[in-house]
Amino acid sequence: MTDTRAISLIMALRGQGITDARVLSAIERTPRELFVDKPFESSAYDNNALPIACGQTISQPYIVAYSTVELDVQPNHRVLEIGTGSGYQAAVLALLCRMVYTVERHRPLMAQAESRFRALKLHNIVTRHGDGFAGWPEQAPFDRILLTAAVPEVPPILIEQLKPGGILIAPEGKQPSLESFSQYLVKIIRTEEGTSKQSLIPVVFVPMIPGLPQGKSDGSERKI
Ligand code: SAH
Repeated sequence: MTDTRAISLIMALRGQGITDARVLSAIERTPRELFVDKPFESSAYDNNALPIACGQTISQPYIVAYSTVELDVQPNHRVLEIGTGSGYQAAVLALLCRMVYTVERHRPLMAQAESRFRALKLHNIVTRHGDGFAGWPEQAPFDRILLTAAVPEVPPILIEQLKPGGILIAPEGKQPSLESFSQYLVKIIRTEEGTSKQSLIPVVFVPMIPGLPQGKSDGSERKI
């Protein structure tokens, strides 16, 4: 049964202009309390970002909803997410597409997210511990790519892993300062001729950091 707090969240998202029924239903069916740490369980359905392990954050539900709508995910799609974090965004995507490929540089976050995917029986998610700056060339090209950590500029190597007609959404810009919003969510569409790029809304995301915190990856990949 859906938690009444999930229903309140859906109503809040509707109030903020999210009307896509498939995306709202995927959010309603994803128990966000499983993706936050114990002390934050009571705030799990607030429309806010929350801290998770390794100094990272689980994104605000509005931003998850907005990004997912802009990504225009279809049931036959294979989607690459960079920045698994808690796994919440990947779980929402998994309800909307054929296969989610998600990359995370912090191994403890990856392991925790994998156990959540298993508990929710989300068997169409493949995880990889590694540096998302390289994308996932072995599984490319993707129909959609979503970055959930901010880059100064979207790396061309990631755009190259998009199919023609594919869409990439990413927070782009510097880390925010007190004076200004310096990150925007951008939407890049790969066309036969090249790419088109559009700025969407101002956002605040943690930075995408090159390399791995504990040194080398064993390149481990797991099908949930
Ligand atoms: N999508 C997440 C939110 C993630 S916060 C969720 O739904 O909870 C951003 C995540 O990107 C963090 O977990 C951070 O460790 C990860 N990250 C940062 N740089 C990265 C990189 N180069 N490769 C892979 N993951 C990265």
